[in-house]
Amino acid sequence: MGYKVDIHVKARYFILGNVRHAPLVAAVRSAEKGRVSTCPLADDIARLAIHMYRAMAPETSAQTVLAAFLLETKEFGMEVLCLASGTKYWNNTESHRGPPPMSVIRDCHAEVLARRALRVWLSREVENPTRCLREESTGLLRLDGRLHFYTSTQPCGNACVKRWGTCTKDAGDGREIMQPHPYMKWHMAREGQIALSLKPGSMSHSCSDKIARWNVLGVQGAMLSRAFEGPLYIDTVTIGRKFARPMAMRALCCRLQEFSVLPGGYRVNHPTIMCTDVRLHEGSIGQEDKASFEHQALWWAQGESCLHLIGADFVDVVMSREAIAGGSLVRCGTVSNDPTGARVGSLAEYRFRKESVEDPRRRDARRVLLNDPKFFSQWIRKES
Ligand SMILES: [Zn+2]
Ligand SMILES: [Zn+2]
Repeated sequence: MGYKVDIHVKARYFILGNVRHAPLVAAVRSAEKGRVSTCPLADDIARLAIHMYRAMAPETSAQTVLAAFLLETKEFGMEVLCLASGTKYWNNTESHRGPPPMSVIRDCHAEVLARRALRVWLSREVENPTRCLREESTGLLRLDGRLHFYTSTQPCGNACVKRWGTCTKDAGDGREIMQPHPYMKWHMAREGQIALSLKPGSMSHSCSDKIARWNVLGVQGAMLSRAFEGPLYIDTVTIGRKFARPMAMRALCCRLQEFSVLPGGYRVNHPTIMCTDVRLHEGSIGQEDKASFEHQALWWAQGESCLHLIGADFVDVVMSREAIAGGSLVRCGTVSNDPTGARVGSLAEYRFRKESVEDPRRRDARRVLLNDPKFFSQWIRKES
């Protein structure tokens, strides 16, 4: 395989890249009682996302992770655009037992599903804008408001590696705490603090890595990039349990600080990072390993009449790569005259079509990001 695995972290994460100190310990924060909200905005975001989820989700005693994208506009206030819950991923070693790979949603972590749900919502906006403004001269869209991201737990991967850094308690009473993001020193890179990681037993990158990528290339993805004026960046990130600001900053954006200038208006986005004490589950989870996690994953986006369930087969027709690829291609007009255009036969074909519809500015920015030897050059490119 074309990637390097240097160390094996406590059987939980494969860390890629130049890591000198091993083994790392992904410590689980036990002092959940001490969690303090950063500001009222963080609590508003969490409360709204959890309320929406509770209104639709079936009652269960099992724990899960919830993630959501919210939009704040002058006209409509704060609203949930989409949400998802889930903690599982498709294990490669079991893939032969499953349905055809093109239909499988391998990564069912809540953060990743929420972003897929956001793309479902965005692709509808391309057809019929309700929250986006269309520039008359170019026909391109712009999101008319602030985009907030909520996750009930610190994202897995780099943000959960607490080896380098100590946390101080947040205590603020302002509406939104604006903390400057620190400049990372180069020895941090040599130590491995910027390393990428895979979800255990899979070829899926950790949520930390994926969110870091969104903070450069935008959350809209390649398929929808041509429909928008520029990349859609997250304005704030609100985290619930296991919150640790220094690690979240490092993992989600600051480790990519060297990419401050990229082609076509792309850059490293440093969102405001906030903590909320509004809890998804009553009581705290002392040790992650002992908690009983929900097996199924759920998602919803504005326009869907109910939650979608992604069960043990990891299949969802609306969210599958095939559906999103085909739908997005049709919506971007590239295959509008081709009735078979919505079908994508293989991963190679999917990738070809995706790259052919990608905004050239995003393609250039992506190439700079993924080809840089210090950072994302070890991003896994899945083979068909
Ligand atoms: Zn995750
Ligand atoms: Zn940052």
